Amino acid sequence: MRAMVLHRAHGRLEMEERPDPAPGPGQIRLRVEACGVCRTDLHVVDGELPNPKLPIVPGHEIVGRVEAAGDGVSLETGARVGVAWLGHTDGTCPYCRSDRENLCDAALFTGYTRDGGYATHTIAEADFVFPLSEDLDPVATAPLLCAGLIGWRSLKLAGDGRTIGVYGFGAAGHIIAQVCRWQGRRVFAFTRPGDNAGQAFALSMGAEWAGGSDEKPPEPLDAAILFAPVGALVPAALAALRKGGRAVCGGIHMSDIPAFPYELLWEERSVLSVANLTREDGHEFLALAPQAKVRTATTTYPLDKANKALDDLRSGRLEGAAVLVP
Ligand SMILES: [Zn+2]
Ligand SMILES: [Zn+2]
Repeated sequence: MRAMVLHRAHGRLEMEERPDPAPGPGQIRLRVEACGVCRTDLHVVDGELPNPKLPIVPGHEIVGRVEAAGDGVSLETGARVGVAWLGHTDGTCPYCRSDRENLCDAALFTGYTRDGGYATHTIAEADFVFPLSEDLDPVATAPLLCAGLIGWRSLKLAGDGRTIGVYGFGAAGHIIAQVCRWQGRRVFAFTRPGDNAGQAFALSMGAEWAGGSDEKPPEPLDAAILFAPVGALVPAALAALRKGGRAVCGGIHMSDIPAFPYELLWEERSVLSVANLTREDGHEFLALAPQAKVRTATTTYPLDKANKALDDLRSGRLEGAAVLVP
């Protein structure tokens, strides 16, 4: 197999040849068809997340086919499956036992604390993969496995409000805007100030208003979801919320949130974060996405151009989602 490997934070990924891994009990080996590039991968590469497994193969939006199965696995060879961020839980900690496996004390995360999908092949735990249809497009589907799933969990935590602000209109933003429209909600999109192309993209994806993150929406929001990793957006979003509104931080890492007056939080506004996902989130969203006719905008890169894909994501040059094809 070949894999793009990170040896140390701030380094470049290096292409390596490795022996094909053998799946252990309960595991499968996948031949990767496509792997999305998530902002979290950037946080891993840029050393913004503590204690990654090093060396690490990043990537947690994997579409692939079962090539070999270990003992106790019922998945058929050749079946198409998706692998997401949550790669393993212990099933026994207080969080797992209270239906909050996303907070598991002993979780392992694909592409962060276990090897992921920037590769031709990878190993996954069979209990943590999602069955995927034969007739879908692997490239178009890959971004659903994190941008879609985390976006969905963020939207659930945002509550039932009708007017939803989306701060940062990239991979997750453009997917969740389509889900909101399908649910009959109204979407207000916020991009980097002056990003006219990004605002036009948001409008084309169903947002009814798009502006810079330094602008106020035309009316107060019931909820705001922050996908951009910029702490200064938290007080900005709070200022855009109506009474009782929620600001949901959907990312795993964010720059520091600046001090703000209590007045912005007052009147039962709240700020909360989304951590990881549960398998239930994944099954819900993957069933809902075809009903909502979610379409993804993607830019494909060959596997050996993973560094270029990360650079393009870092600089904001991407529209939609980057996807690696081995
Ligand atoms: Zn647990
Ligand atoms: Zn992700």
